Amino acid sequence: MVTKAAIGVDLGGTNVRVVLGSKEGKIIAKISEPTEKSKGPTGVSEQIIRLIISLIEERINLRDIEGIGIGSAGPLDIKSGALMRPTHLPFEYVPLVKPLEEKFGLPVILLNDCVAAVLGEKYFGIGGDHENLVYVTISTGIGGGVYVDGHLLIGKDGNAHEIGHFTIDYEGRLTCGCGKKGHWEAYCSGSGIPNYARLIIEGDKFKNARKGPLMEAYKSGKLTAKAVYDCAKVGDDLAEIIVEKIGELNAIGFACVTDAYDPSLITVGGSVTLNNPSLVIDPIRRYIKEHARNRVPEITLTPLGEDIVLYGALASVFYLSR
Ligand SMILES: [Zn+2]
Repeated sequence: MVTKAAIGVDLGGTNVRVVLGSKEGKIIAKISEPTEKSKGPTGVSEQIIRLIISLIEERINLRDIEGIGIGSAGPLDIKSGALMRPTHLPFEYVPLVKPLEEKFGLPVILLNDCVAAVLGEKYFGIGGDHENLVYVTISTGIGGGVYVDGHLLIGKDGNAHEIGHFTIDYEGRLTCGCGKKGHWEAYCSGSGIPNYARLIIEGDKFKNARKGPLMEAYKSGKLTAKAVYDCAKVGDDLAEIIVEKIGELNAIGFACVTDAYDPSLITVGGSVTLNNPSLVIDPIRRYIKEHARNRVPEITLTPLGEDIVLYGALASVFYLSR
């Protein structure tokens, strides 16, 4: 018998995932579908409504649900409860809060996915003893969620701490998806790593002498973040050099996070990290001291894995003061 339950939604560009979970962080049921992009912006909320209905059907009474939390990639317009020209959906404006509130008569909380994630870490992960913690995702992009002095940082529109757009290369050799040059995400995210790897290879004076699987991938135009890390795992020299250089830049990003927010814990997730935890995190730990003025916090892999946004969406219903 469930006493207190909530709905958590992780709205991604590829999949939308919905869970029913308890106040203790137990996921009772889960459902996932490819994100609906062919029926216009209202198709997204209609899909979420349909998934919620099928999830709660015969499991729980609507009156036993406290609310619905949504974590989504931004940018958000928190005042109107919608997404504004989101990076992961092909629409100008995607209303989310109002259609769900009207359908279910429950409170609906919309948060940036990384902001939700840090709440998940705080309440259902390893952040319980920390009043100052940051969650960093290194995935297709780089993002963060920040919890300081016992409060979640949100910002005027819900877009505080866009840490992936910190400038970590003042020469601006690579251009970010946002259009500016030199941003962290342009070098070290899943979509940026191939460009950064190409930049390193093309500036490498031993380029012509190098052999190995990563050089082959470069020559055949198949350079991906996965190829870089997979080749490093089997001892490819060039891949090891690139992984180290990515680590140096990640350490600059983490040093900025450390000096901006002074956390006692930074947890790291996102597909690039989850697939290559030590290759991503070890170099950050090695290089961060060269850049951070503040005391370096504990930096560790999140135990919540790819479900962290869902845990955060649940936590937002139970623990975010409204
Ligand atoms: Zn940027």
